[in-house]
Amino acid sequence: MTDSDAAEVAPNDSSAQAPSGGEGRRGRDPDCLFCRIVADEIAATKVHEDESIVGIRDIAPRAPTHVLFMPREHIPSATDLTVADGPLLGRLFSVAADFARSEGIADNGYRIVANVGRWGGQTVEHLHFHLLGGRSMSWPPG
Ligand code: 5GP
Ligand code: ZN
Repeated sequence: MTDSDAAEVAPNDSSAQAPSGGEGRRGRDPDCLFCRIVADEIAATKVHEDESIVGIRDIAPRAPTHVLFMPREHIPSATDLTVADGPLLGRLFSVAADFARSEGIADNGYRIVANVGRWGGQTVEHLHFHLLGGRSMSWPPG
């Protein structure tokens, strides 16, 4: 790798830290369920909310603790992420780890998973990470 190659990966997008007023680089999709939950147009039990990340209890929990962490901005899926999203993802995983500790499930361990696309089992096209815990998990998932 040359110095110029490294420079291409260097930009540090600070948008994840900057107060954005609720809309990031990709804005929102008025027809998206999770954009509408983020905007409080549809009710959900929120466990976390800051300028870039929202966490909600899943409406159909598959484990004693089942929470979805998502960016406020409308990113359709993990396949749309770029290097510039690093700070946003770091923040999201840090928020999820703090939540797991506060929920009392961290010591035993838990699972964080993102379904991607049709075969991956994704049903809502707004990037989200499932945090499942409070019971032992099998592997591999079905
Ligand atoms: P996916 O299938 O895309 O990986 O995950 C979508 C998740 O969103 C599912 O686990 C589903 O139960 C959850 N979900 C779907 N609609 C709602 C809703 O209106 N409110 C909440 N809190 N969760 C929802
Ligand atoms: Zn959305």
